[in-house]
Amino acid sequence: MPHSIVPPQDPQRLLQDVFGHAQFRPMQREIIDHVLARRSALVVLSTGSGKSLCYQLPALIFDGLTVVVSPLISLMQDQVEALRERGVPAAFYNSTLSGAERMDIARGVRAGRIKLLYIAPEGLVQNRILSLLEEANLSCIAIDEAHCISQWGHDFRPEYRELGAIRRRHPDAVCVALTATATPRVQEDIAQTLGIAPENAFVGSFDRENLFLSVEPRIRMNDQIAAFLRGREGQSGIVYCPTRKQVDALAEKLTTLGFSALPYHAGMESEDRQANQAAFLDGSAPIMVATVAFGMGIDKEDVRFVLHAGLPKSPEAYYQEIGRAGRDGKRADCLWLFGYSDVDMILHFIQEGAPSEREGRLERLNWLLNWAYSSDCRRKTLLEYYGEGREQERCGMCDNCAAAEKPQIDLTIPAQKFMSCIVRTKQLFGEAYIIDVLKGSAKQKILNNKHHELSVYGIGSEFSRAGWQVLSFQLLKRRMIKRDLQHGSLKMTNAGWEVLKGNEPFMGRSILPLPKAKAPQIKGAVSAEYDKELFEKLRVKRKEFADKKSLSAFIVFYDSSLREMASRFPQTEEAFLEISGVGPTKLEQYGDAFLQIIRQHCQERRENESGA
Ligand code: ADP
Ligand code: ZN
Repeated sequence: MPHSIVPPQDPQRLLQDVFGHAQFRPMQREIIDHVLARRSALVVLSTGSGKSLCYQLPALIFDGLTVVVSPLISLMQDQVEALRERGVPAAFYNSTLSGAERMDIARGVRAGRIKLLYIAPEGLVQNRILSLLEEANLSCIAIDEAHCISQWGHDFRPEYRELGAIRRRHPDAVCVALTATATPRVQEDIAQTLGIAPENAFVGSFDRENLFLSVEPRIRMNDQIAAFLRGREGQSGIVYCPTRKQVDALAEKLTTLGFSALPYHAGMESEDRQANQAAFLDGSAPIMVATVAFGMGIDKEDVRFVLHAGLPKSPEAYYQEIGRAGRDGKRADCLWLFGYSDVDMILHFIQEGAPSEREGRLERLNWLLNWAYSSDCRRKTLLEYYGEGREQERCGMCDNCAAAEKPQIDLTIPAQKFMSCIVRTKQLFGEAYIIDVLKGSAKQKILNNKHHELSVYGIGSEFSRAGWQVLSFQLLKRRMIKRDLQHGSLKMTNAGWEVLKGNEPFMGRSILPLPKAKAPQIKGAVSAEYDKELFEKLRVKRKEFADKKSLSAFIVFYDSSLREMASRFPQTEEAFLEISGVGPTKLEQYGDAFLQIIRQHCQERRENESGA
């Protein structure tokens, strides 16, 4: 007699048996019970908190179909595969499928065989898909990245507006809207569009207490990044650059400085990209230099830092990008190197872009600028953006809080020099020009403006340009001066005038110059002396591997790693692991072959030397 196994309907058992997790994460159980009671929900939880489970698990218990809408197509495909591996009947319906595949899925949906159907937003306006939903017994509509519904969000997708209508056509289906980034205004907009009552919102805290937040002016980027990476050897981290070109240039620069960095951007061959991602995930290349194309769905717990070399696209994007650090709960550092040129570029794009988006984008840019220039607690102000209050004024885990505890030095005189130069040049010029005048530059523009005749001309020789830039950033942060958004010129504020007139002192942080980037001395140290002959042998071996696996040679090993091998002659696996760019995976894949060459070479050398 055929018998069907009664599926365990208990969420705790499903969590263990199907998803393989021992316990629910905070809020998961509460949300799942709520959804199982067939009540709609708006879920706002930070990335990595396990939002998918909040609809995937109920989907196994519901009679009918759960439709999942998400704009992240590649992630959806991964999720579908992962679900299938666990024996969950899930499918992905999109326009790339063949007619036969589509019919197969449609049959599965109608027969109730498929429990979870993932569709891309485009599907929401396609009749074929809409009528399939009509025919299905729809239990639940899950909307991932739900902030895309809102025009106030940073990632508005017009197709998402259709969800309102779809929702009305299926009033009995439970609706679960999920997002990691939604300001109160966006939350309201989502809830309203989807008819979710305000009391059905589950909003987690946005506070990631283990992330140390800081912003510094970008002055000599490579030196600053190298200084940041020093002492963090072996730690994993992501360096975000705004453009592909910058990614390539920085990855190369860091490599020549002896760091194990790999590039990642959408312009690379997908094989290289995947290989680099894999090397980052397994720790063999700890530093990923990437555009924002990198990071979605990356599930690596021990990312110790996220460095922004350029302007984040929006406060939401910034929050999401730094959120990839410190998932293990241990301290992680988030540094944003802030440069004015980025601001000018983004302004240009905003002005060229769609007029309907202009206001929102300007608003978000202004918020980012104010945040960067602020000397308030960064955590407090970032959380306020998400409508979350904090009791303490100071968190102790941001640059501003840390600075508040350190003694300050008297910078009144340099501040007066800088501001008096602003005033003498009639508050019409930007930072670079002001510093040119202070340093007594003979640039044509200065001579034309007759600014070499001013009393402030050349009075700033005691500090380097970098020093003056650091001071300028401090003056901006303390609202002594402000920067005109359109023209970049620096203007005085009332507070600045008080310092300039000598009524108030200006206390701040040291503005002494940064150290220059040099090759590292710890792991990854390569002396200029290395055995050229051995290096060549290792290169030949590397090429053999690269050809065999159709990989770029540098993915097997960097030149810098080979050079290090040819100067440190590792003979054991432990010693081999000490070479920068060598992690457990590379040891396993290549260790034997390379160690054999090194041992043999050393043997030959010994024989030659004793024979000589
Ligand atoms: P989000 O969508 O909120 O960013 P995901 O749903 O992608 O997060 O989950 C992030 C990671 O957490 C996934 O690897 C997932 O398997 C894991 N996860 C989810 N719930 C749990 C749990 N209860 N216990 C352990 N890991 C979990
Ligand atoms: Zn703080």
